[in-house]
Amino acid sequence: MNDSLLHLYELQKVDSQLDDLIESRGELPDRVNEMRRQVDAQREQLNQVRRDIKEVEDNNKQLSSETVELREKVDRYKAQQFDVKTTREYDAITFQLEESQRKLHSNTETIGRMGIELEQLKSDEQQMAADLADMEKELEEAQTALGEVLAETEEEEKTLLAKRQSLEKSIQQFYLTIYNRVRPAKGGVAVVPIKNGVCGGCYNAVPRQLALELRKGEKHAVCEYCGRIIVGEPIVIAVDGEPQPITYEVDSDEENNESAEE
Ligand SMILES: [Zn+2]
Repeated sequence: MNDSLLHLYELQKVDSQLDDLIESRGELPDRVNEMRRQVDAQREQLNQVRRDIKEVEDNNKQLSSETVELREKVDRYKAQQFDVKTTREYDAITFQLEESQRKLHSNTETIGRMGIELEQLKSDEQQMAADLADMEKELEEAQTALGEVLAETEEEEKTLLAKRQSLEKSIQQFYLTIYNRVRPAKGGVAVVPIKNGVCGGCYNAVPRQLALELRKGEKHAVCEYCGRIIVGEPIVIAVDGEPQPITYEVDSDEENNESAEE
């Protein structure tokens, strides 16, 4: 078997694992950041509602004390109406009485509206605080998961990089050159197995003669459609193990199969 080719196929596996690892990291930090942003926004909204509540309560307090004063005034004017000496005085007191009564009425209405508003705000506050607590809990869990993933993948990455380094040393430069050129252009996959006579990268048929040669595990083929390096069965089995669903190529079945193919 061509060891250089074998190691090249192994290198592909290691690089694909590294790609997956980096991709798995790429999503979780983004998600955690997004959750953090949402928690901050929720907290800000909740603070705003609390400021609104404070404002309504302050206004309410002020209006209520005004109302007490207005009631006293109304009572005073009513009493004064009986004490006046002239019609002009009576008219003046009546005017002030009516003015105070109007204000009192309008204040009472406003206080009523504020009560409803306050009730709504307080129910909003309660809901938002509950939501915030849930979001904070979820964020905390995601942060813990992220910490674990980072810790986990850091170790795995180190192992994979070490493996990669030692594999690279045992691969002919000729193969590495093609590999490094093809991999970035083909979604990170430059070396593929032959699968039932087709390229494992693009699923186009491999010419029969080339396919037969690949069976020895000595040579590689370059897919004429996608340009990837195709390796044969012995290399694939050495790296991936025996294929699970199809077993006819192993032991005594091979003979039957070949005669069926002809
Ligand atoms: Zn192909």
